[in-house]
Amino acid sequence: MLSAVNSAINPSLLNKLTNKIINVFAAEGINGGEPFDLVFVEEDHVYSSETNKEVHGRTSIENLGVKVQITVHLNSSTLPGTDPIFQKVTVLHELLHARIQYSSTSTNNISSSSHSIILDKLFNDFRDAIKEITGLSDNDNSSRKLITALALFGLGELKGTPLFTARMSDYEITDQNFRDIEDLYEKVVYDNSNNIISIGGSNCQP
Ligand SMILES: [Zn+2]
Repeated sequence: MLSAVNSAINPSLLNKLTNKIINVFAAEGINGGEPFDLVFVEEDHVYSSETNKEVHGRTSIENLGVKVQITVHLNSSTLPGTDPIFQKVTVLHELLHARIQYSSTSTNNISSSSHSIILDKLFNDFRDAIKEITGLSDNDNSSRKLITALALFGLGELKGTPLFTARMSDYEITDQNFRDIEDLYEKVVYDNSNNIISIGGSNCQP
């Protein structure tokens, strides 16, 4: 999993995304604030603090007084069984949460969820970043759909909203494309009673 983290935090990529996110918030009159520490930890199990369901990743933020620390918790029971592409996209998704959460701490004015911000304002940049870390290209139609479906996959609770539907239709994404990601990239994990213990990004904390 370390390799997934290393590819996703490639400094040039991180700076590009960070600047983009800062610009998004600056447009709303919110400044970037001080630097923060970003820490990655692997844990045996990771649960959403909103739904208590097992998730691949979760991001938390702590104000330590002298500085802010953002922790990306990665699930070492579920993630290693997934495709490396899925791992990288998961890390990237959590990095977006980290930066958005940090920007959100400086104001009470943000009413949108992090996932709404990703879907609305950061979607194309997220797609570009996925291309950069996975080597997938828009030149091939099936890759173009895969990149898009991977970007949408973690935003599952927004499915059915007008913008989510529009993104799907822009790239001719069908529900089958999401099922393909579950089958081929996420490789859904079941417990002994055959219950899904992880449906990944779609269960990510909003
Ligand atoms: Zn998320």
